[in-house]
Amino acid sequence: MNNPSTSPANSNYDVAVIGGGPGGAALATFLARAGHRCIVFEQAKYPRYHIGESLVPHTYGIFERLGMLPQLRASAFPVKHSVRFVAPDGKASLPFYFTETIKGDGARTWQVERSQFDCMMLDHARANGVEVHEQSAVQEVLFEGGRAVGVRVAPANGSPTEVRAKVVVDASGRACVIGRQLNLLCKLPELRKATAWGYFRGGKRLPGIDAGETTMLLLPGGGWFWYIPLPDDIVSVGIVTDPEYLFSQSDDLEAAFMRETALCAALVDRLATAERVGPVRGSRHLAYLNRQTCGEGWVMIGDARAFLDPIYSSGLYLALGSAELAAQCIDEALKSGDVSAAQLGRFEAPLMKGVEVVRRLIHAFYDPKFSFMDFVRRFPEHRIALIDCLVGDVIKDMSAFTESLAQMTPPPPPLGSNLPPPSAPAPVNA
Ligand SMILES: Cc1cc2nc3c(=O)[nH]c(=O)nc-3n(C[C@H](O)[C@H](O)[C@H](O)COP(=O)(O)OP(=O)(O)OC[C@H]3O[C@@H](n4cnc5c(N)ncnc54)[C@H](O)[C@@H]3O)c2cc1C
Repeated sequence: MNNPSTSPANSNYDVAVIGGGPGGAALATFLARAGHRCIVFEQAKYPRYHIGESLVPHTYGIFERLGMLPQLRASAFPVKHSVRFVAPDGKASLPFYFTETIKGDGARTWQVERSQFDCMMLDHARANGVEVHEQSAVQEVLFEGGRAVGVRVAPANGSPTEVRAKVVVDASGRACVIGRQLNLLCKLPELRKATAWGYFRGGKRLPGIDAGETTMLLLPGGGWFWYIPLPDDIVSVGIVTDPEYLFSQSDDLEAAFMRETALCAALVDRLATAERVGPVRGSRHLAYLNRQTCGEGWVMIGDARAFLDPIYSSGLYLALGSAELAAQCIDEALKSGDVSAAQLGRFEAPLMKGVEVVRRLIHAFYDPKFSFMDFVRRFPEHRIALIDCLVGDVIKDMSAFTESLAQMTPPPPPLGSNLPPPSAPAPVNA
């Protein structure tokens, strides 16, 4: 990996990106390839830990356009061909193989160890001409006359500097730099879920092409565990459930997590010969949204915009997808000299189509009266659309599917329609 440098080569850039996670790295790569001068500020020194390990196959096209497939193919990341659900009584579904809807190499994806994957993406950005500064935290976005004109950045070994750019992109993940600065950030009241997770060495793996599957273990009462195989015989295991339930007996994250793993018989079986490694991490409130996601001279992408729920492993896809769509708008904006909110925000409408489908499915999943099995029985014509959702192919017209869904589970209030006063989401201890 390249050595992190600490001082920007120039003070005038086309695009300044806050955060070198997958969203920021992808956006900067696309824009550097289009000939724009991009600088990325990442507060951490890579490699650094991050949660969010299961990719969906629809990221394949984005990796292909980024030129990242060779690195992924050469990696030790387990290959994911399918997703499987295990009911509260321990009965496992057949795997949903991605080959049901996708032909060829794109019918598989990877379970990624984020410390390595994120390095891979940031190194790829560097190789494509992006100037990357690690250990450089953006303190604030600079505004002049209501328009973003740059950032103030504090390198680990130097004094804060101002760097000017025509467009500022917030890709800072749950840190939500612009959302906090402009007081745009709100918890989503209708999705109140908490999470706790840890890692185990030696958990059971299935043979053959099922070895890399994501297993979702459903719990009575609407919670669920993920079980994601990673390199070096490690599995990532995490619970998502109501905070009142998770912390009913103690406020301690580790105690709550270990209690729940011991209660889930299907998990106990899978972890019978495994040992836990590393700390238990978590968050007391997962879902949030910003009231506004672009403005004059600035945009938010990925988790810096919003985060709903990890159930469909859509986070990385939405980070990469929003990065690609926003990069197209920024490219046009820079070429036309129009970096207005109207021009920069043109990626919102197509992106929101996908976000809305995922959101509807999340609410359906947590509706105790709804069952996907009953849905497919009543609407067999939508089975393929359901698999499209599992593979992440959601940024398209899926109105027939969502209309049928509405016949079996009430649609949630329109996104952002019932936001409480702005407040910060609980930090993810990650
Ligand atoms: C419990 C849980 C489980 C999840 N599971 C999955 C999953 O299985 N599959 C999936 O696809 N997604 C999953 N996600 C979501 C996934 O983690 C995120 O959607 C994804 O990491 C978003 O990428 P990003 O680039 O937007 O942000 P991030 O990956 O968070 O990157 C943001 C970067 O910005 C940097 N940064 C922050 N503040 C500053 C600052 N002030 N200055 C400079 N740099 C800064 C951070 O250090 C970080 O490197 C999960 C999320 C949670 C909470």
